Amino acid sequence: MKGTQALRGVLFGIRVLRVAVAEFFFPSVCLVCEGDTDGAPVCDNCLALIQPIERGFCQLCGRPVSRSRRSYICAECVRKPLALTRVRAWARFTHPLDKLVYAFKYARRSRLARFFSRRLALVVQSDGLLGSADAIVPIPLHASKRWWRGYNQSELLARELSSQTGIKMLDCIKRRRVTRTQTRLTPEQRRANVEGAFSMRRSADPLLLADRKLILLDDVITSGSTLDAAAEVLLDAGAREIYGLTVGGAWIAR
Ligand SMILES: [Zn+2]
Ligand SMILES: [Zn+2]
Repeated sequence: MKGTQALRGVLFGIRVLRVAVAEFFFPSVCLVCEGDTDGAPVCDNCLALIQPIERGFCQLCGRPVSRSRRSYICAECVRKPLALTRVRAWARFTHPLDKLVYAFKYARRSRLARFFSRRLALVVQSDGLLGSADAIVPIPLHASKRWWRGYNQSELLARELSSQTGIKMLDCIKRRRVTRTQTRLTPEQRRANVEGAFSMRRSADPLLLADRKLILLDDVITSGSTLDAAAEVLLDAGAREIYGLTVGGAWIAR
């Protein structure tokens, strides 16, 4: 009898601890304004401020444009096309999405992986090209960075997106060297910074890539140079077409 009671006490203790840990890591507060939510990472008011890009975008880089012609290609893509066939971003990288992406990048937030991947799944399913992809490839972090951070946000996202769309994840590229943060670099410096930064993983089976259409997944597109450098590696390895998919888009000059 005493034993059963002790066991119950231990089980209760474990449950209390588990709830406390869950509350600590996943509190029901909005990650933007700290208001209450029903468990979602962002409250309805902050969600309403995010600007999804649904129609009226460049067919190559995904940049939003005022006109919604289906064949529209922006001046930047005419001047300097990307190696990718198409890039789509879920929403503009403005407040409060920037804050959410930052939280996702630097503090592991599984809630955010689900929140973002649900929206990205809708983008994939509504897009004829992305919807036809054979696999999702996350943009890798350098091994040292991944070790230090404990996770790669694009990989978390790719896993969730894969389970929601049924398109398999293929973690087949790696970062060969640590690259500088791109924020303060000029377009030329950005290109030089990521040139040769990616390579195929030795374990990657070339047969899995041959003639395949792949979605490269990253958190944000700015100049597109990171996606472009990774796409080149996949195309060289035999992939047929590369599409880009990001949570946010800022589209600065290339
Ligand atoms: Zn809020
Ligand atoms: Zn464009």
